[in-house]
Amino acid sequence: MHFDLNENQTMFRDMVRDFAKQEIMPIAHQMDVTREMPDDLVEKIKANGFFGLSFPEEYGGLDVDTITYGVVVEELARASAGVCIMVTVHNSVGYYPVAGFGSEELKREILPRMAAGEIAAFCVSEAGAGSDAASLRATARKEGEEYVLDGSKMWVTNGTRAAFFVVLARNPGSTDHRGIHAFLVPRDTPGLSVAKKEDKMGLRASDTVVIDLDGARVPAANRLGDEGDGFRIGMTALDGGRIGVAFQALGIGRACLEAAAKYSMVREQFGKPIGRQPVIGNMIADMGTELDAARLLAFRAAWLKDQGRRFTKEAAMAKVFATEAAGRAADAAVQIHGGYGYVKEYDVERYYRDVRVTRIYEGTSEIQRLVIARELLRELA
Ligand SMILES: Cc1cc2nc3c(=O)[nH]c(=O)nc-3n(C[C@H](O)[C@H](O)[C@H](O)COP(=O)(O)OP(=O)(O)OC[C@H]3O[C@@H](n4cnc5c(N)ncnc54)[C@H](O)[C@@H]3O)c2cc1C
Repeated sequence: MHFDLNENQTMFRDMVRDFAKQEIMPIAHQMDVTREMPDDLVEKIKANGFFGLSFPEEYGGLDVDTITYGVVVEELARASAGVCIMVTVHNSVGYYPVAGFGSEELKREILPRMAAGEIAAFCVSEAGAGSDAASLRATARKEGEEYVLDGSKMWVTNGTRAAFFVVLARNPGSTDHRGIHAFLVPRDTPGLSVAKKEDKMGLRASDTVVIDLDGARVPAANRLGDEGDGFRIGMTALDGGRIGVAFQALGIGRACLEAAAKYSMVREQFGKPIGRQPVIGNMIADMGTELDAARLLAFRAAWLKDQGRRFTKEAAMAKVFATEAAGRAADAAVQIHGGYGYVKEYDVERYYRDVRVTRIYEGTSEIQRLVIARELLRELA
């Protein structure tokens, strides 16, 4: 066992770190205030191939392993969690259902376009269906060689920019997960529209929207997997996505630690830097220790995925621990900044808001614990 990144992984990390420093960090605050991500930043992200991170080379992607992917995600999140989530949703829950379950013809047509930067979104959640995704109500009615989609999807990350939407919808009249199908729906499908952009607490550079489906027709060839496979496809995609959220939280947490450490050595009270006060030192020690523990869990989950082994429990453990550790780190970073941590001039105020959602999306902390308990009880009881 060793803990070093290999040459390729190190190269990717350094490349993304430089990119983030030059292109994202200088505008991260402005994007948070305006809720807009400049088009030219998205173009630069495309040009660097980040939208093809997960995609096999034969489809024009970079085909990085999951550890490299995690390292890249951490670096992006350290600069802007909003930019990071655009890239990760596309590369995980946007990519995987098509790559894993699309027909060969669909993959050849769509994956190179996605890898080149035609962005993907993932539409499972609805107003009434969150943690209990199997209760979703959007319908897919078969008519000849087409399906007609009706319903409304909430919380769609990338919704305003996406060229492709992975949509879960059910056979009319079905009541459980076995009636759910998955589809790839192109943006220009008549009947698909953006109904509302959410005004969020954090991740404000990222667009989160409501998507309405009103008689949207998709060819049967755009169904992913067999009829009734949709729920399994969605849940498997989320397993992988959770590793990405763990690394995203780590990136925000590391930004908190770095900001707190620097601030604590320049801010003087009682005649010395506050970082020299044992209480503040202890806070910094705990932040660093917990984030390192979280990183090891995230690396283990990523490694298992790369080995082709089961990683459901480990991904859930990584997500719940990393997101909660990063939440505590953000809280401590604000505390260490005192009143300055409570105003927008200081980045820790943004980190504190951004990190909060990592405990909610792609499965809440409560749902991760249900998954971990289910797996442990199956193994041990
Ligand atoms: C910024 C953002 C981006 C998102 N992006 C996407 C996206 O791209 N695509 C998409 O499909 N969805 C997306 N989501 C939706 C996200 O996945 C859901 O918000 C999440 O799954 C929780 O669902 P909910 O909000 O309906 O909460 P609920 O499921 O209503 O949960 C409310 C509370 O009850 C708890 N709870 C629920 N069931 C149980 C249980 N059995 N045991 C214990 N506690 C329970 C939850 O943990 C939570 O604390 C996004 C959400 C946000 C905020």
